[in-house]
Amino acid sequence: MRFTKSRPMSQAVFKRKEFYILPLLLAAITAMVLTACGGQVKHKPMITVSILPQKFMLEKIVGDKFEVSCMLNEGNNPEAYEPSMTHLMNIEYSAAYFCIGYIGFEYAIVDKAHANNPDLKIYDNSRGIEVIKGTHFSPEGKHDEADPHVWTSVTNAIAIARNMLDAVKELDPDNAKFYTTNYERFKAELEATDTRIKEMLAPKHGTAFIVWHPSLSYFARDYGLQQVCLEYEGKEIPIDKLKENIDKAHASGAKVLFMQREFDSRQAETIGNELGVKMVQINPLSYDWENEIMKIANAIADN
Ligand SMILES: [Zn+2]
Repeated sequence: MRFTKSRPMSQAVFKRKEFYILPLLLAAITAMVLTACGGQVKHKPMITVSILPQKFMLEKIVGDKFEVSCMLNEGNNPEAYEPSMTHLMNIEYSAAYFCIGYIGFEYAIVDKAHANNPDLKIYDNSRGIEVIKGTHFSPEGKHDEADPHVWTSVTNAIAIARNMLDAVKELDPDNAKFYTTNYERFKAELEATDTRIKEMLAPKHGTAFIVWHPSLSYFARDYGLQQVCLEYEGKEIPIDKLKENIDKAHASGAKVLFMQREFDSRQAETIGNELGVKMVQINPLSYDWENEIMKIANAIADN
């Protein structure tokens, strides 16, 4: 396959004397012998993505043909993220970078990575998705930014998967059939999930739920729900606004507050207690994306 680059082997491993490193070393040597071809070590071509739900979706399509490296780890907030050196290096060794679309750090990274690796191909996984505006603020405080949380929607996930398929077919046309079969299977799985959630939430049409940060706008749009967000212009709520937001959440009739550790402030829990709503911890930025989406749907359906 094309786009295969050898990565320099870390020398640090060989300097260590600890005996427990030996089995690891043997395993590494075995792996090298197995993958060596004409004395050169071959690595799987790599694609770098921004967030773990992308990694989950892309691996469904590429199987074992590509290694998928992810910029954000568990618990990172995409709106306040700064990449590590290792992550930046991984982009340099990648055949392509798959952007999720509207996260600030992607713009800076893509420019930098492209300068270091002019062959790097860049794909926008959100191409064709109708974005929601009015939930996020620009650094200047304008309320017209595209909501970046496109991955919290099963419908959007189908579009994202389709964009991924088109990209990998272009990167590796020899295996186009393999990727298409995987995509079709994944698409059917997503459609079944969407149908299931639609059935579960049909009686809840118009129902409100509370979040600290507006990360479920696309989910709310898909199923006719109302998202009530507590944070104030992306920050802690000033005291004078606190009562206003509590009243707003109370008036919405919401019975569940979703907590998300990447974004939440301690104020979220205090307000949840005050309102007497059920608090549910969610993690839509995790690799276990499909189960997280079901968890959100279940929490709304059960309340
Ligand atoms: Zn956000």
